[in-house]
Amino acid sequence: FARRVETFGTTIFTEINVLAQQYNALNLGQGKPDFDTPADIVAELVRAAQSGQHNQYAPGPGIASLRHAVAEHAARFYGLDIDPDRGVIVTAGATEGLLSCMLGLVNPGDEVIVIEPFYDSYVPNILMAGGTPVFVPLHPPTWTFDPDELRAAFSARTRVLILNSPHNPTGRVFTREELSLIAELCIEHNVIVINDEVYEHLTLGGSSYLPIATLPGMFERTVTVSSSGKTFSATGWKIGWAYGHPAVLDGVARAHQFTIFAVHHPSQEAVAYALRQPDSYYQEFQAMYEAKKRLLMSSLEGSGLSYRAPEGTYFIMADFSPVFDGMPRDFTHHLIKEIGVACIPPESMYSQEHVHIGRNYVRFSFCKSDEALLQAKPLLARLA
Ligand code: PMP
Ligand code: GLN
Repeated sequence: FARRVETFGTTIFTEINVLAQQYNALNLGQGKPDFDTPADIVAELVRAAQSGQHNQYAPGPGIASLRHAVAEHAARFYGLDIDPDRGVIVTAGATEGLLSCMLGLVNPGDEVIVIEPFYDSYVPNILMAGGTPVFVPLHPPTWTFDPDELRAAFSARTRVLILNSPHNPTGRVFTREELSLIAELCIEHNVIVINDEVYEHLTLGGSSYLPIATLPGMFERTVTVSSSGKTFSATGWKIGWAYGHPAVLDGVARAHQFTIFAVHHPSQEAVAYALRQPDSYYQEFQAMYEAKKRLLMSSLEGSGLSYRAPEGTYFIMADFSPVFDGMPRDFTHHLIKEIGVACIPPESMYSQEHVHIGRNYVRFSFCKSDEALLQAKPLLARLA
């Protein structure tokens, strides 16, 4: 294989799924709902496929109705004014959106600032683009960055900062103050922000999500990436999008043309329908996850693990050091094999230099049926 993939191992999600299956463990690892996409949204996909009109190549940047739906959604929730023709690209999930951003915006030798722990595809994407990641850790238990560490990460070679809010895996939703400092530094150093907002509708406990593109001076230097996978519980469809000022999006569009060209056509029709759901859909979605968060928190009570309520996403980071001595991967193996519950160890979400910062933590996911979340309680209680 090529040198550029030399350091890439099997993703942690695949590794843990295999182990969970082998030991028949309750899988609270991968962020993959164990319940179905809403039936009316699935019906739109079936209708689109059966119509005989949508089974050939879609336009490369995405079908017009979905590009318009993305722009309308950003106007409805964030007051953003997006050009549906030149300011939106439909991608094969956020994953392809993020890769196309890196390939289209980063030159070999450019530095990309990454907040740690990070979603596991960011660093391989930066490396494939020939960039150099520069890491800024979030510090537990509050998962906040040190403003001086952030400032020090910027250099004359910094080209991009990749942001993710609500944040996987910590459950943080970054505050206006935190985002303002990031924005100020990006403007001062002429840096582009790639904002991964796939959990945009998953805010919990009264927190609210603020897209960095809405801050003064930021729209023209931000590409925002999101996905239908989380908001419509349709992770298998892999329909995502990137939006922003046409001048910044142009690089992303160029890369997208020659990585994937066009995305699955019938699902785009269904996602265009889904994004136009009334506000009540989004409120009920959030309420469903508020209840699931409480169920998982109640199952963690009495396990000896300590945690903070997440402000967003469908993940909880729990500190296992009161009950286990070892690295997160060792604890995860113990939990799967001896207790029968799977979670995600965060080692692959850290650089070598900072992996010790997350050494006491594992991630549990609550995008699971209420029964599964309740079933975890007696199992986790055996840890204490
Ligand atoms: N970014 C983050 C932070 C995620 O958690 C995920 C989903 N696991 C993705 C990107 C990828 O999204 P998609 O499934 O739409 O490719
Ligand atoms: N985003 C999901 C998670 O963080 C899984 C994505 C994947 O399997 N690559 O759990």
